[in-house]
Amino acid sequence: MPRRSFRIGRSITGLGLFAIRPIKKREKIAEYKGPRVNAEEAGRLERRGNRYLYEINKQITIDGTPRSNVARYANHSCNPNAETYTYGGRVFIRALRKIKPDEEITYDYGNDYLKWVIGRSRCQCRRCRRRRARKQREARALKKRRAKRLARMRRRR
Ligand SMILES: [Zn+2]
Repeated sequence: MPRRSFRIGRSITGLGLFAIRPIKKREKIAEYKGPRVNAEEAGRLERRGNRYLYEINKQITIDGTPRSNVARYANHSCNPNAETYTYGGRVFIRALRKIKPDEEITYDYGNDYLKWVIGRSRCQCRRCRRRRARKQREARALKKRRAKRLARMRRRR
C-alpha cells in the first residue's frame, strides 16, 4: 500500500484516524491486520474483553489487538465516511465518499456492536451527539415556553 493517507490522533472517545490529505471515494485506506483465530478462540478472547475482533465469517476472526494494526484506531460512526470490505480473505477499510484533510475516518461497526458493546444511547459519534444535543435544546425550549405560559396565566389572575 502506498504512503499512509492518515494519522492517529485524539478523538472524542480516545484515539482515532484522521485524514492527512484528501482521500478519494473508494480509495483503500488501511488493512485490518492481525492473527486469524477460529470461532472458539474468538469467543474466548471476547469474554476476556478483547474489543478488536473482526469476524470475517463464522470460522475466521481477525484478532486486531496488535498495535501495528493501525486500522483498529478507526472509530465507529452511525454516519460513516468509510467502510470495510473483504478481499482474498483480508479486510480493508476504504472511503465511502471523498474525505477531507483532518476529517476523522470512521466506519459503521454494525448493529450488534452498537447495541451490545457501545449501547445505542451512549454512542459518541457525531450524528448521535448532534441528535442528543438537539433533543436537549428542544426540551429546554419547551420548558421555557411552559414557564412563560404559566407566568402569563399568573399575571391574568
Ligand atoms: Zn452513533
